[in-house]
Amino acid sequence: TFKAIVIDRSEAGQTVERRDFDEADLMEGDVVVRVVYSTLNYKDGLALTGKAPVVRRFPMIPGVDLAGTVEHSAHPEFKPGDSVVLNGWGLGETHLGAYAQKVRVRGDWLIHLPRGLSLFQSMAIGTAGYTAMLSVMAIERHGLRCQKGPAIVTGAAGGVGSVAIALLARAGWHVVASTGRPQEADYLRLLGASEIIERSELAGPARPLGKERWCAGIDTVGSHTLANVLSMTKYGGAIAACGLAGGMALPTSVAPFILRGVSLLGIDSVMTPRALRLEAWSRLARELDLAKLETMTTSIPLDQVMEAGRAIVEGKVRGRIVVEID
Ligand code: NAP
Repeated sequence: TFKAIVIDRSEAGQTVERRDFDEADLMEGDVVVRVVYSTLNYKDGLALTGKAPVVRRFPMIPGVDLAGTVEHSAHPEFKPGDSVVLNGWGLGETHLGAYAQKVRVRGDWLIHLPRGLSLFQSMAIGTAGYTAMLSVMAIERHGLRCQKGPAIVTGAAGGVGSVAIALLARAGWHVVASTGRPQEADYLRLLGASEIIERSELAGPARPLGKERWCAGIDTVGSHTLANVLSMTKYGGAIAACGLAGGMALPTSVAPFILRGVSLLGIDSVMTPRALRLEAWSRLARELDLAKLETMTTSIPLDQVMEAGRAIVEGKVRGRIVVEID
């Protein structure tokens, strides 16, 4: 047996407990990994609190990200002792996840730990940071470069937001950070934000078109916030939509799209094809300032994930949290 956080469901509702889990009950896969670190993303918070139907099978071990060492492998690309990273692919949703000392997974889901990063740093980045990089890559694929004008990041003090600011600033963008926590202004400036705006500026119902303020953006909030961001996007600009911290809805109009040629770029990290993952991770290893990564990261032991899960869905977590498994 090994230790795991287990979510179960009964008539009384959802239960979460730390307990021993039998290796024989692990799901199918050709690689067994000893998990060293996981992390806490917004989605893990949703799973732990049951606030949204993230978990699709019970009992479930939550945790969508892991870094660890291969114990057994029948996959040609991985051998015992290899350091590996896994993000998404249904881990913690449909497949038993990372808040456990062991996982059995498909080797096709794993990547080798990117050169230049430690296991700890890879989880400080985690799905949040890798999604920030996917968003930057989508903006670049759209042909946008920093010379064109500012880039907005919403939910700036959160995990995706913090990494997004650091990456955009390094690429030369003038970064406008939108936050509901003005007390984090110094932190956001340290990461590379040039301008800080109050979350409330983007909160009410959006006008079809507003004053043109930015040419690119990474939105982690959704709802009215994304609608306002779109209405203030410059002619030909594009916004990467990756989150829903403010809600699933998108109360917008077609005006930004048909009158300003604005594009909305959808970002999904869970099912991203392998080639794009490898590109995102090798760029993270090269381009993310590791001192900034350290500034945005704290760590907690496994038995504090419940508490941290509640805090992240309440918008109270700053930056990134690494979960120490062993
Ligand atoms: P996080 O650390 O909690 O960051 C979210 C941030 O959004 C908060 O720190 C807060 O920033 C802001 N916020 C929270 N509640 C809000 C509200 N009600 N209205 C407006 N702003 C609010 O979470 P994360 O792990 O970075 O994830 C961010 C979002 O991206 C989540 O919705 C997550 O599900 C999504 N995501 C999607 C993918 C994908 O594959 N598409 C991958 C990773 C994450 P401030 O205090 O600075 O305002």
